[in-house]
Formats: sequence, structure tokens, C-alpha cells
Amino acid sequence: MTNNFFKVALLIVSLLYSLPTYSNEEINSSAHHLSDGTYANTSGVAYESSFNKLLKWSWERRSKNLETFKFEVEVPNYKEIYKNENIVTTWIGHETFLYQNKDINVLTDPHFTQRASPLNFAGPKRYMVPGMKIDDLPNIDIVTISHSHYDHLDYMSVKLLAEKFDNILFLVPLGLKKWFESKGIYNVREFDWWDSLIIQETLITFAPVQHWSARGLFDRNETLWGAWHFKNKFHSFIHLGDTGYTDDFKTIKEKLGPVDLAAIPIGAYEPRWIMEFSHINPEEAVMTFLDLEASKAIGMAWGTFILTDEPVTEPPRQLLKELKKYNIPNEDFFTLKHGESYLID
Ligand code: ZN
Repeated sequence: MTNNFFKVALLIVSLLYSLPTYSNEEINSSAHHLSDGTYANTSGVAYESSFNKLLKWSWERRSKNLETFKFEVEVPNYKEIYKNENIVTTWIGHETFLYQNKDINVLTDPHFTQRASPLNFAGPKRYMVPGMKIDDLPNIDIVTISHSHYDHLDYMSVKLLAEKFDNILFLVPLGLKKWFESKGIYNVREFDWWDSLIIQETLITFAPVQHWSARGLFDRNETLWGAWHFKNKFHSFIHLGDTGYTDDFKTIKEKLGPVDLAAIPIGAYEPRWIMEFSHINPEEAVMTFLDLEASKAIGMAWGTFILTDEPVTEPPRQLLKELKKYNIPNEDFFTLKHGESYLID
């Protein structure tokens, strides 16, 4: 007991040192809560893609030949994953990572099924199988959901995880708890931007990014979106979810400090006239890396579903070009193969 008390006290002291500080004004800031119950971005803009724009995009896409590609896969480093003693980040595909920080095991935006769609017979279909199966996961403590879009919140994946792991906790943006409860999942905590929670010895904070949410035609922006930030005495990691380019990244760095590792989206960006607001391109991903003052970054949101118009092999290639342009070594901002584990020692 005394030992545990000592550990908790030590943790609190070590976290206080790096805890974000807020003024009262900032804590009470709720400008992103609109009077109709929906949410806006920190810029004040709530994303509304016009029906005409979507129609124009669909029309232009009809003649485009969007080809898939068989990317190289790698067997996850199961020895390290099951040993569970080091900092290991395994890319399962799209924005799904297994993140192990010597304290808790986290799964981000878990997607393990065939489609990112409300329908099981239509909608974006996965062309690369997940780099890891649910059956092969180590014990999972925490699942984070960045927002409600189908490629980030997948019903069957969430259901299977809730059944498999007794003590799993789902951390979700404001407004999404009732969706989970409607599916019979009750171990859920909702976060507003800058809310944080300590799980074991890890401080978890939800931070703003520029995006939007919807699962149907009539629920636009009724639930929040954002990035999940993890910090303990060993390591810090941020998973940005989907985002357009925004000053939020500089704010995140100011409030939470420079991060050791960032998962930054590099795909789903064309055509710019429709995607620019809500999805960064590889050049903006590099700017984001610099704004966050991240030591390392992994490019995500590519190589799994065809959601937008750029060729599926373009994001990692384009990332390399942009890194060169900004004089950033390739080993600082890289991509993983599906299933590949990145070990930090
Ligand atoms: Zn999205």
C-alpha cells in the first residue's frame, strides 16, 4: 500500500512538472460549442461541404481509374509486443495503431473489418488486410476514437474489442458516448478539448484539430473530433486523427510541450478544392511535424482504403519529396509497412 502510495505521489509530481497549465479563461472557453448543440473548429468555422460540391466531385471522379496496390507487409514484432516492456508502436493500417508505452496498451481508431461504411456491401473497401488481427492483440487497456467517421469508428471492431477485453476503456469525443451505449458498451469516457485523465501512469489529453463529424445525413458536427495525446515519464505520443492544416498544432505544442512521436495523416488529400479544409497533404504534414516540434513522426491515413483521388502510392513518395524540401532527415518522419512495429529503446 505504502509503495503504491509512493508511486502515485511520484507520478503526480512528475506529471505536474509537465502538466499543461491553463488560465481560467481558457478552461471555460467553449466557443466551439454552438447554440444548436453542434461543434465548430477553433477558428469558429463549422465544416459544411455543400451538396453541389459533392455532386461536382462525384461527377469528376466517375471517369477516374482509382487503382489499388499491394503494399509490402511485415509481421508485427510479437516478441516485443507480448513482452510488453518497451515502447512499441505497431501500424495496423489507416489510422489504427497499437501503442505500448511501458505502462498502458492503447489502440487508436480501431478498424479491422472489410469496409469503412455504414453498409456491409457498399462503400470504401479495404484493399490491404489489417497488419494484425484482433485475436493477436496483447491486452488492450484503452481505445481512443478521434471522430465518428466510419473509417475511424467501426462498429464491429469496437464490439469485438469490448467483448474480448474485460477492462477495456473507450475514450471518445463529446457526444459519442450515447452511440456506444446504444450498442451496449458502457465503459466509455467522453472528452471535450483539453480534458485530460490519468490512466495508471499516463496522462491522456484530448486536443483540438480541424475537422468535422457525421455518420448519417442529419448528424453533422453533433459529436466532437480531435487528437489524443499520451504522456508518461518514458514517452509522449500524439495521434492526430483527421485534420486540415491549422494553428491548433502550435497551440498543442505550447500547451502540452514538444512530443516524442506523432502519428500524422499524409493521405486522403485530393482534390484540394474539397479536401483542403479537413485533410492535410504531405507538405502540410511536414509543416504539422514542425509546428508540433515532434522528435519523430509516422505517416498514417494511407495505403488501406481509397477515400480520395490521389494515387494510393503517392502519399509516402510525396512525403519523401517534402522532407527533402524542408531539409528533414527521412528517419525523423517516416512510414511503416502494414504490421510493422517501431521500437524505441
Ligand atoms: Zn474524418
